[in-house]
Amino acid sequence: MRTFEKSSKLDNVCYDIRGPVMDEANRMIAQGEKILKLNIGNPAPFGFRAPDAVIEKMKEMLTFTEGYSDSKGLIEARRAIVKYCRQKNMPNVTEEDVYTGNGVSELITLSMQGLLNDGDEVLVPAPDYPLWTASVTLAGGTAVHYICDEESEWYPDLEDMRSKITAKTKAIVVINPNNPTGALYPKEILQGIVDMAREHELILFADEIYDRLVMDGLEHIALASLAPDLLTVSFNGLSKSHLIAGYRCGWMCLCGDKSKAKGYVEGINLLSSMRLCSNVPAQSLIPAALEHLDETKQMLVPGGRIYEQREYITKAISEIPGLSVVKPKAAFYMFPRMDIERFQIEDDETFALDFLREKKILFTHGGGFHWEKPDHFRIVYLPEVGQLQEAATALKDFLAGYVQKKA
Ligand code: PLP
Repeated sequence: MRTFEKSSKLDNVCYDIRGPVMDEANRMIAQGEKILKLNIGNPAPFGFRAPDAVIEKMKEMLTFTEGYSDSKGLIEARRAIVKYCRQKNMPNVTEEDVYTGNGVSELITLSMQGLLNDGDEVLVPAPDYPLWTASVTLAGGTAVHYICDEESEWYPDLEDMRSKITAKTKAIVVINPNNPTGALYPKEILQGIVDMAREHELILFADEIYDRLVMDGLEHIALASLAPDLLTVSFNGLSKSHLIAGYRCGWMCLCGDKSKAKGYVEGINLLSSMRLCSNVPAQSLIPAALEHLDETKQMLVPGGRIYEQREYITKAISEIPGLSVVKPKAAFYMFPRMDIERFQIEDDETFALDFLREKKILFTHGGGFHWEKPDHFRIVYLPEVGQLQEAATALKDFLAGYVQKKA
């Protein structure tokens, strides 16, 4: 009998952020159990609402956005993105260099499909946002992970990065601000990466979707702004800064010197037109959204929700015996470390599963972010302080008696 298997193209694609822990959570939910989900960066379920001006704009634009747009997106949206790029000193971006997408996710995959041949290597951070590794692999490439160093605020380890460049390396992916660590990189680190890309003639991919979610008066520096003579592909969108992950609204800009990338740009244009265009009503929000940043800023200062939630959870996690954490500076994630000798943890996925079963709270294990040692997990601190308090108390209680059983 004929059976239908998944494509062999997917054989090595690793997207462990799903997997047994999520399956177990879904099983528990189907049985009527209530699970606190601290595993996904989706603001809406935690009472975050999009700015009113954005919602009003969406309503107003619905009837005008029924048809397909240009495959790159509405010209008004692309103009607003170009203006935003100028504000961030991103060089040489015109409307023709901007591609809107159904979230940044679609464009990450598209950008890798358009570039890679079998065996090409791309430097991707560890820990990473796992879609990057999955997209490199799906496109036939090999994701080579460079270490981000917890001892140095989770900044990329430039020596490690350098040691992993080979003749097959085509590009470096930089996720800044970072998911899952919440790190924000300083200029010296970014400059070091740019210098390396220049020396080895590599393309830079800058995932900067959290650039408007920075705390402590710090400033995000766009990677492209340091590399006018290189090609930087920059990614951004409204899912997080405007709390509208469900609308699926992102964009990608080709910045800097495109003179050596004519073939790649042709490939991107082809793939972009094959999907006709991205969600047009969502694109139509971009000009208004990029003018309305006050609500976003208010969440990030003392008294604001994200700021206060970060303050609470950082302190609470640091006080649990056997845990430590680098205080995040941006986004709404943290990546605590567990003392695996104390808890005899050999498998971080089993830890997440055991915790889920006992306390009905969902975290993602570090391995889901291509972190090899079983000593980390990610917390999404979007819930209100009351719920975070429940989670921290449950974790403290759980770890007080936890010793991982051998499989
Ligand atoms: N890049 C990073 C670093 C992310 O954390 C996410 C989502 O969590 C995305 C990209 C995808 O965002 P979206 O597809 O909603 O624009």
